[in-house]
Amino acid sequence: MATGADRHTVPIDAATVAEYHAHVYYAPAQRGHARWLREESGRRFVVRLGRWRETPVGPHPRAMYQMAFAPVVLGPLVAFLMLNRGPLDILVHPETGHGHAGDHSVRALWLGRPQVIDLPFLDAIDAGRLAG
Ligand code: ZN
Repeated sequence: MATGADRHTVPIDAATVAEYHAHVYYAPAQRGHARWLREESGRRFVVRLGRWRETPVGPHPRAMYQMAFAPVVLGPLVAFLMLNRGPLDILVHPETGHGHAGDHSVRALWLGRPQVIDLPFLDAIDAGRLAG
């Protein structure tokens, strides 16, 4: 778990972040709202919508879908998600190239309740033990 807690002596420049992700977690009863939020986000912003993942996948502990987007979209999209997420829990994280575990923990933000991300799984990807 060391990667997630690493401190950087050199700041990470936000200008070097190519992409961000929002992972929208949903319970079965929340699927309708999750669909609405997905469609509205796709209509209002330039986002790449990932598949519906009905079961836990990778480091993610619950059913979710992903939205990928450029840094210029971060502010407006996070504000939209903040105002319209309803009961959904959402992980927003950068893709910095400085370690997936850190990107999903110390450099991430949550809308709603933080979920338990499988950081050892991400450490294994960063160490080359799993395909990223
Ligand atoms: Zn992601």
